[in-house]
Amino acid sequence: MLLDVRNVIRMRTIFLAGAGSLALAGAAMVHSAQSPAQAQQTTPNAQTLGAPAVTSPPVGVPAQAVSTFGAQAQRSGLNIVVLDPAHGGTDPGARGTGGIRESEIVLDLATQVRRALELQGFQVVLTRQGNENPSFDDRSAIANAQRGAVFVTLHISSTGLPGTVRVYVNSDLAAVTDSNGLIPWDRAQAPFLGLSKKFGDLVQGMLVQRFKGSPDAALTAGVRQLRSTAAPAIAVEISSIVVEDRAELDRMAPGVADAIARGAAAFKPSYVVANVPGKLP
Ligand SMILES: [Zn+2]
Repeated sequence: MLLDVRNVIRMRTIFLAGAGSLALAGAAMVHSAQSPAQAQQTTPNAQTLGAPAVTSPPVGVPAQAVSTFGAQAQRSGLNIVVLDPAHGGTDPGARGTGGIRESEIVLDLATQVRRALELQGFQVVLTRQGNENPSFDDRSAIANAQRGAVFVTLHISSTGLPGTVRVYVNSDLAAVTDSNGLIPWDRAQAPFLGLSKKFGDLVQGMLVQRFKGSPDAALTAGVRQLRSTAAPAIAVEISSIVVEDRAELDRMAPGVADAIARGAAAFKPSYVVANVPGKLP
């Protein structure tokens, strides 16, 4: 499930308890080499005009990496997929009547998605490898530390027509900055929304071919995990946890994995920064 009230409450608790830590949402600021106006201008326009989309500005990169981010991202393009099996540890996510847990199914699903992505030539970074529950910010930080990455969080819903899959991108966020041009951590997704939608539409397009009854295009929602992620970022949610036997969900895994991998491969050309003659090797 995507919208988990318990998680929201826990996040608020962390904010209060961790006010001294720069790593926590609200307190942390991330650098942007572009002004938000520039970022807003370049990202959607590049797509509208059919030119190669300008890649993400270096929002969310650790401060020490900012000076080198632009050049390296231009050289590398999209190479990395940060894959997030949601929930885990003390948070089982959605639970079915038969005792199946979202946190376990998405971890197994992630193994298959990883394999499919690697076959497409991507390097995959998992936000968790076992039954643990990194915070939203820990998971976003893994993506925000990469160069040339997209982020995919995996969920099983408790609603929806069983056998369908939906892709969500974050709903609009105001790209606010302070006087130093810093973007707050919890708005890090704002400059990437256009690219996230494009990535999400491509993955959803692959999914609807395999899972009839799924939407044709990505949906928007307020997804906490995506909000603090400074990269093109999507949530993929499979319906649903109410199936009697988890084998019904497991049978969907290869198709979901393949759709994500093909969607990422189709998105890859959109992520390349327009070449500046003489600047690239
Ligand atoms: Zn979930």
